[in-house]
Amino acid sequence: MPKLVYDFAEGNKDLKQLLGGKGANLAEMTNLGLPVPPGFTITADACRAYLSTGAVPAELADEIDHHVALLEQKMGKKLGQADDPLLVSVRSGAAVSMPGMMETVLNVGLNDDSVNGLAHQSGNPRFAWDAYRRLVQMFGKTVLGMDGEVFEDAIEAAKQAKGTRNDLDLDADDLQRLVGTFKQAVHDHTGREFPQDPRTQMDLAIEAVFDSWNADRAILYRRQERIPADLGTAVNICSMVFGNLGMDSGTGVAFTRDPSSGQPGVYGDYLQNAQGEDVVAGIRNTVPLAELEQLDKTSYDDLMRIMATLEGHYRDLCDIEFTVERGKLWMLQTRVGKRTAAAAFRIATSLIDEGVIDTGEALGRVKGAQLAQLMFPRFDADADKDLITKAIGASPGAASGQVVFTSAAAVEAAERGEKVILVRRETNPDDLHGMIAAQGILTSRGGKTSHAAVVARGMGKTCVCGAEDLDVNVAKGTIAVDGTVLEAGELISIDGTTGEVFRGEVQVVPSPVVQYFEGTLAPDAGDELVASVHRLIKYADDVRRLGVRTNADTADDAARARRFGAEGIGLCRTEHMFLGERRESVERLILADNDADRDTALAELEPLQRDDFLELLDAMDGLPVTIRLIDPPLHEFLPSMEELAVKVAVARERGEEPGHDAALLAAVERLHEQNPMLGLRGVRLGLVIPGLFAMQVRAIATAALELRRRGRDPRPEIMIPLVGAVQELHLVRDEVERVLAEVGGGQEIPIGTMIELPRAAVIADQIAEAADFFSFGTNDLTQTTWGFSRDDVEGAFFSRYLEKGIFAVSPFESIDREGVGALVRTGVDRGRATKPGLKLGVCGEHGGDPDSIHFFHEVGLDYVSCSPFRLPVARLEAGRAALPAE
Ligand code: PEP
Ligand code: MG
Repeated sequence: MPKLVYDFAEGNKDLKQLLGGKGANLAEMTNLGLPVPPGFTITADACRAYLSTGAVPAELADEIDHHVALLEQKMGKKLGQADDPLLVSVRSGAAVSMPGMMETVLNVGLNDDSVNGLAHQSGNPRFAWDAYRRLVQMFGKTVLGMDGEVFEDAIEAAKQAKGTRNDLDLDADDLQRLVGTFKQAVHDHTGREFPQDPRTQMDLAIEAVFDSWNADRAILYRRQERIPADLGTAVNICSMVFGNLGMDSGTGVAFTRDPSSGQPGVYGDYLQNAQGEDVVAGIRNTVPLAELEQLDKTSYDDLMRIMATLEGHYRDLCDIEFTVERGKLWMLQTRVGKRTAAAAFRIATSLIDEGVIDTGEALGRVKGAQLAQLMFPRFDADADKDLITKAIGASPGAASGQVVFTSAAAVEAAERGEKVILVRRETNPDDLHGMIAAQGILTSRGGKTSHAAVVARGMGKTCVCGAEDLDVNVAKGTIAVDGTVLEAGELISIDGTTGEVFRGEVQVVPSPVVQYFEGTLAPDAGDELVASVHRLIKYADDVRRLGVRTNADTADDAARARRFGAEGIGLCRTEHMFLGERRESVERLILADNDADRDTALAELEPLQRDDFLELLDAMDGLPVTIRLIDPPLHEFLPSMEELAVKVAVARERGEEPGHDAALLAAVERLHEQNPMLGLRGVRLGLVIPGLFAMQVRAIATAALELRRRGRDPRPEIMIPLVGAVQELHLVRDEVERVLAEVGGGQEIPIGTMIELPRAAVIADQIAEAADFFSFGTNDLTQTTWGFSRDDVEGAFFSRYLEKGIFAVSPFESIDREGVGALVRTGVDRGRATKPGLKLGVCGEHGGDPDSIHFFHEVGLDYVSCSPFRLPVARLEAGRAALPAE
């Protein structure tokens, strides 16, 4: 076994995988000479060993003994020492931040004796007994798995007995009695006494932290955030400092820049006379950090100096947890802080301007998912709005929905497809389900660093918090504000940027970032966020190797895609042109039982198709347009078999002649397939229905010729779907070439194929002989590689698969690198073995997915193609993929 325990002085910020984010950064701060209370970190290796074997590794106890002894030496006091005890916190800390998801136990080391020593040493018996009751409470909840309500109820009863509503009114005697009640509750619950031996307390707390890695809420959070399930957590044992020793003490959270807007400056919350998690839990209302300057100038100045040091050292926004103990500042945690999407872009470009990072590093720090968030609509400033209050905009966005007061109600409503806003006094980690289900979160307490705010920002979910004007009564299911009462089910709208809360649903308008991409808002028009997006996306365009095309079938979509940066169309699905009024012609084509009827139907469709292509090629003038010949099975264009059967039966019942309907029904029955996805579609259809592909090709070629005559520069490419054998492609290719020759005009139109069947990928070397280009159809390739049909399985059992960890994300959303990805790689390698310069793209939905784009860059595709709205994300991620590895 490698070393399992590291003193804070032994680690550094790069050891996150081993020491967790908290441990690595405590080590870094210790080595920077900042005031960190001494302590040590138990590695995530130890946790993983514990989780896999069910027992702590044998070596751990000795290593902990050694580090406890060192700590006792450093602090000049011992664990459990009756007259002056060393107290420690036991805190979780994984490699990836999981706010509030795992456990913490504070004040470990107190017992019936040492509580008196602490009272004496601190000169503050109230404080000592309060610390002891917190230990028994946290230990009971976290280590012994007791219901937190037991303790809360006892505190409530003590306050009632005292006739107060404020914790601070409970005196030392009250708290001493409370400790007795708590210990009795522990005994009742576990049949054992609360452990008096500090080392036993510590060991049990460590195991509880290890176990909390697999708590339901932690598992849910990891799934949501796509955090691997096998990282485990480190455990930090840190000597206690106290923010609850009186009004000259306190605890706070600070950011070196505003995490919601990215504005420079100092942001945070401070709570006097409070300990530990009180701030993040949003339990009592905090004051803005700036007020610390008045309360305790020395600590404030120290904090400002340290924050500047940390930002300079980490070269990024840092968030910090600190405690002031009787006028002395202590640093309890720092890390590169979470931020909103807007803040990410603004901070990245500010840091370039400040000379801290270069543009490449800045691009590496913003993500496609963040850019996608910035493209969500905003509330219309000119819409009629009924403002009910304005609070803290904690996580931006515009969300409307019905008021719900519990996470369970949020989940139920979401399952019914309803949009809800989760309204709470404050949230806690058990609200995670509800927060995921809701459109947005509104709380009446807590600041920008409350649980609701931190978690919502992490999820990219709209959140307004600290709406103190709202009297939220969860039991009654009402919100009272200024004499008005809102009830569950009523519609409200929340603006996570301004903090405004409106009654009713508010109209939305495109975000400034979308207006920028549309070309209606100039990058230098004064919107700083737009200016930041502009700089970074332009840089991404400069450095990316991947081209970016769009999937579009109409001139409108093509025009928008061009504005959004498309360098061509990677997939025009021509079947979309067979819908609407044209269905009748398609029906005639399907019903035709002789060449003449079929030719008539095709002749009806051809001019319509030609007009479609004229518009599309014109909109993309000068850029390549990959037109895929019809792909889906023909019965998709006919009415449903059940409906027709009923119609025909009813007509016959009435003694009427069903005529056309009967013929249609016969055709539907003839074309019916058990597995249409694996049936007569794609190239198979083109080979079986004479004249269909030829009609489409003629329409493409004549449209292009016409445009050329008008002096335009059309660049169509013809693409054959669902090819599995090179013979199929040869046959179709011959026909396409024949039609092109007939149309004449000397047009060179490339003829390529989709690679969307495993067989095609495997024999790509043969297929390349007959193809001028490949486009990977990763939708079908995923279906056929896994052997499941997307429409059937996604809604049916995917959630179970995700829960069971069979996949961390749906393979339809993000490319399955190991399976489907391996086939793509094979297709690339074998295709290029035959034709070294073969042009390769992807047009499945993965073409717009950030992680998949990085994969397509790695395997050497030439371009990705995605829907118009994903283009900015694709441009940004293609740029990020091209950055040199860190
Ligand atoms: C694909 O299969 O990835 C593809 C783009 O084709 P479609 O989604 O139209 O089947
Ligand atoms: Mg396909």
